[in-house]
Amino acid sequence: MNILVTGGAGFIGSALCRHLVADPRNRVVNIDKLTYAGNLASLRQIENFPNYRFIQADICNDALVAEILRAENIDHVIHLAAETHVDRSIDGPDAFVETNIVGTFRLLQASLAYWRELPANAVADFRFHHVSTDEVFGDLPFDTSLFTEDTPYAPSSPYSASKAASDHLVRAWHQTFGLPIVVTNCSNNYGPFHFPEKLIPLVILNALEEKPLPVYGNGGNVRDWLHVEDHARALALVATKGKVGENYNIGGRAERTNLSVVETICDLLDRKRPRRNGASYRSLIKFVSDRPGHDRRYAMDAAKIERELGWSPQESFDEGLARTIDWYLENAWWWKPIRDGSYAGERLGRLVAA
Ligand code: NAD
Repeated sequence: MNILVTGGAGFIGSALCRHLVADPRNRVVNIDKLTYAGNLASLRQIENFPNYRFIQADICNDALVAEILRAENIDHVIHLAAETHVDRSIDGPDAFVETNIVGTFRLLQASLAYWRELPANAVADFRFHHVSTDEVFGDLPFDTSLFTEDTPYAPSSPYSASKAASDHLVRAWHQTFGLPIVVTNCSNNYGPFHFPEKLIPLVILNALEEKPLPVYGNGGNVRDWLHVEDHARALALVATKGKVGENYNIGGRAERTNLSVVETICDLLDRKRPRRNGASYRSLIKFVSDRPGHDRRYAMDAAKIERELGWSPQESFDEGLARTIDWYLENAWWWKPIRDGSYAGERLGRLVAA
């Protein structure tokens, strides 16, 4: 496959690029604007691979994207570029509308124009794969219900609303113009190279620096966790075997309250890197005012991708979390430069610095 990955310098995009280039039959072109969340250091191990190329580009620049699609002879677009942090979407939604909605629209337009120019034998192989989130489905009660591919959309935050809008645009470009698309909606990812504003890396690194561990509300909100490498495998599988026009839910069947995730990290760190004063890291937990519009629970039913494409998560949450902590302990070269400067004025940043 000749694959254009958008947002490949981000957390999931970089895991996907690393996964895809391991197969020499794939050629990967990564386009990324390199916002605060994009980090080429996450791609250091593959940057010299002959089947990998990085181009700094904004998905809103449809002329440039169209040029890249043609020059690189792309047959698969896997679209991950987005603004992704819910707290930032509350503090400043503009960039979310611009990249997640307008950017996806421009990428669709460039892809449609390119797809229409393809020779007849290449038209059927082209895919536009849109990577989205479980958050578009909104709030689940604390019961046994799960999000399926048929769950109606009910986003609660500016982030999830912008992702929902982009999902609808992608679907419309298929229904109206025939663009061969596939959409995946995935639960919360965790793993290495995760930007330290998100819960798991924030808690690991705050703990190591003896800083407060912020937990929203009473910590009872539930998320379904999936290791990023399991997500990357699912995306590669859907790109090759997914049916045109279909949606696939991806999840880890690993529901945890936020508080239990934070406490588990504390307990693992107590064993791996005991504090000098002998206390548990749990004493750093600090409950903070709840996020406005905070959905209580997300949980994915991934039965369709398991049944139809044979995917299932390989990493259990407990083992994956322990491995992730080890990665952060061993890879300060990656996170130290980020922690040193870029949090001024952010809501959680104020807590990091507290
Ligand atoms: P991330 O914030 O780590 O990375 C996003 C990347 O997009 C960054 O490299 C950034 O520079 C790039 N980008 C932003 N605006 C751009 C633009 N206009 N043009 C080009 N590049 C731009 O995000 P992530 O956590 O890796 O998420 C990737 C995708 O997966 C997103 O679409 C997100 O909605 C979706 N997703 C994330 C999760 C999760 O738990 N992180 C779960 C499900 C779905």
